[in-house]
Amino acid sequence: MKKNVLVIHTGGTISMMEDKDTGSVTPGKENPLSVQTSMVSSLADVQVIEAFHLPSPHITTEHMHRIKRLIEEEYDNRPFDGVVITHGTDTLEETAYFLDLTITLPVSIVVTGAMRSSNEIGADGLYNLISSVRVAAESQSKNKGVLVVLNDEIHSAKNVTKTHTSNVSTFQSPQYGPIGIVTKRGILYHHQPTSSESYKVCDVTKRVTLIKAYAGMDSSLLYAIKELKYDGIVIEALGQGNLPPEAVPGVSGLLDHNIPVVLVSRCFNGIAQDVYGYTGGGKQLKEKGVIFSNGLNGQKARIKLMVALSQTTNFQELENIFKK
Ligand code: ASP
Repeated sequence: MKKNVLVIHTGGTISMMEDKDTGSVTPGKENPLSVQTSMVSSLADVQVIEAFHLPSPHITTEHMHRIKRLIEEEYDNRPFDGVVITHGTDTLEETAYFLDLTITLPVSIVVTGAMRSSNEIGADGLYNLISSVRVAAESQSKNKGVLVVLNDEIHSAKNVTKTHTSNVSTFQSPQYGPIGIVTKRGILYHHQPTSSESYKVCDVTKRVTLIKAYAGMDSSLLYAIKELKYDGIVIEALGQGNLPPEAVPGVSGLLDHNIPVVLVSRCFNGIAQDVYGYTGGGKQLKEKGVIFSNGLNGQKARIKLMVALSQTTNFQELENIFKK
């Protein structure tokens, strides 16, 4: 029997066309994927919703929350086996991770996109959509968290990141690799995510910003963030989780104002830890109350801090959430 798969289009290059005269890639009046949906109807009983038609740099956490609610409402109306969300690749990992943290439905959830617009030579959109519907319709895809499927690879939302500006193999999971592959004959999983976490989120109104540390960084931006009354900040710190000494007073100022500071590493492999005891070293930062995240990249730690702040503002509870 065919599985029921809900497809939600949100925009991105996968839904765009290239103007052959100017080379400019933009969303058109009609989503080319809608016309191509008949190609996937042999794979599953597909229902399509055009949620938005946005380039993904226009996607906000409010849009992510709307996608989550849409999935839940549709499931209440007409339960399905899996859902595929098409999305621009620039912020795809953020939406995928937000859904990973907030949806608990017993269905497979796949996010996909494309690096080439629909009328470019070698367009990968329809191919990725077909692969994603196949993955969503596969019963083994359930209980693995949100999956990101492009270029014949299945990645977990938690680990995947966009690594290349234009290459079709841009989505990679540094350090961990994909959890499965899409072959011509079937869907093969070779790894199993070992943990999952989910939070009931009614809104995502907390303002959390993200900055990157660099050699010689001082506290000026950190002071400005305190004045701007952000609810939280993620810093992509140096190496194992260290900051230049001149940045430390800014971090202390934020913590003194009860603004949580979450540290990730600007290295894309490894986990930030409190190892170094010198001024600005991870040990000192941790003693001050800085929260070390568990291997997330900066953009995903920001999503997680927004979600965490919707649950609690208690520093100890926030720290526990980031240990998961
Ligand atoms: N800039 C595009 C977007 O994210 C890139 C893409 O979809 O591949 O919307």
